[in-house]
Amino acid sequence: MTELTDQQLLKYSRQIMLPQLDIDGQQKILSSSVLIVGAGGLGNPAAMYLAAAGVGRLVLVDDDVVDQTNLQRQIAFNESVVGQSKVSALAEQLQANNSDVQVETLEHRLDETELLECVQGVSVVLDCTDNFDSRFLINRVCWQAGTPLVSAAAIGFEGQLSVYHPGVEASPCYQCLYGEVDAQELTCSESGVLGPVVGSQGVLQALEALKLIAGVGESLIGRLQVFDALNHEWRVIKLRKDPQCPVCAST
Ligand SMILES: [Zn+2]
Repeated sequence: MTELTDQQLLKYSRQIMLPQLDIDGQQKILSSSVLIVGAGGLGNPAAMYLAAAGVGRLVLVDDDVVDQTNLQRQIAFNESVVGQSKVSALAEQLQANNSDVQVETLEHRLDETELLECVQGVSVVLDCTDNFDSRFLINRVCWQAGTPLVSAAAIGFEGQLSVYHPGVEASPCYQCLYGEVDAQELTCSESGVLGPVVGSQGVLQALEALKLIAGVGESLIGRLQVFDALNHEWRVIKLRKDPQCPVCAST
């Protein structure tokens, strides 16, 4: 691993001074790469925290443009970028924060082959999308590639977060949990969401990704954390691997 420069030692000093992280953890972060699928309410804060922490390479995927209605929660955007591609607007913000980070952008929806290629080349994947089709696809591809997946969702006043890890034998996958769900999904555009609710889940995705990269602490594997913002309650639900799961049972 490459030595840290004096400037990097200073820039990341507040996290390097954590004994669990130290210089070794920072080097792991600097040589890591994260794929973020979805540059919206989850992807915005997740990407900003990962860039600030010094993740070496960030790959952003989203085919959408910034809309007036996004600004209430997608805090990396401002009025001047309305109409601009989300990934390019986000990339500009990330580079402005930290020039150490190499940012790559993909401004279209990826098919399975393309997605697999991206997933194979990164340390961790963040699912920041808002629909079940993408979520099931990302989960499947992560299992194929053996890449850990940090998944979050938020709607209304509720947030959800979990980590699915193909490298951990007992880890369930997203399909184990939501295999039964039929396609009646809720989206922010139909149901509404409060900015800090979705923002908190995106920030926590960045946290779980950094922990996985640096190899510190207990990850949320096998646990689903549910945040009820209206009553401010956090619940943790134990998840079980489905022995019949078409995605993860055969591996
Ligand atoms: Zn499964």
